[in-house]
Amino acid sequence: MVQTDSKCQHITVHTVTQSSPCPILSCVAKAPKHARVSLIPVADSDKSTCNQPSASNVFQDVHISARLMEEFLELARENTEKDLETCGVLGAFLEKGIYYVTTLIIPKQESTSTTCEAIKEEEFFAIQNERSLFPVGWIHTHPSQSCFMSSIDLHTHYSYQAMVPEAFAIVMAPTDVSRSYGIFRLSDPGGMRVLKECEETGFHSHGEPADGSPIYEHCSNVYTNTNLRFEIFDLR
Ligand SMILES: [Zn+2]
Ligand SMILES: [Zn+2]
Repeated sequence: MVQTDSKCQHITVHTVTQSSPCPILSCVAKAPKHARVSLIPVADSDKSTCNQPSASNVFQDVHISARLMEEFLELARENTEKDLETCGVLGAFLEKGIYYVTTLIIPKQESTSTTCEAIKEEEFFAIQNERSLFPVGWIHTHPSQSCFMSSIDLHTHYSYQAMVPEAFAIVMAPTDVSRSYGIFRLSDPGGMRVLKECEETGFHSHGEPADGSPIYEHCSNVYTNTNLRFEIFDLR
């Protein structure tokens, strides 16, 4: 999947009118010969969720295209301007111990200014299954809130991380001047245990994990890679 023979970076956007198998928009980024891979910097402005290495932190690295995040923000813009959240799910393939995020699916969804819920999940699971992709995470916007994980976000994320231990959540917060995006995961076992045992719904508060770890933390194993092709399926 890694493109190595193109000399310049470009994106091809195809608009497909038929809805079956449902790619409405597909976007492929080809990158320069010499790919640049960089670790996404961890902001140090948020000490409460700062990156704490934990004993169980033996994870596969994840590579994601920074351009994928930019494209997502662009596709979310119409909602963002109306103060509505937008969410998408990320699919990756695993090669030689590294997850490469190659697919962004924007499912049908219902959103408010502080929540976003995918509906017809079977549609995006079908795309992921068809391509044998791992559901390594999800991405959503906070159109007017700061960059953090709400209690509802944590519950949504728990399902991902229970499936794939490397799963991460990207929060894009264009109005947060201190941090426009963050890549988070639940601490394991601390945060995972709190969420597993929590039966509340809606916005609520969570207690501290018993081991003293923050309930969620910045991912330290997610890298941006300029040489990654990706596809976008907008199912809305
Ligand atoms: Zn959120
Ligand atoms: Zn809860």
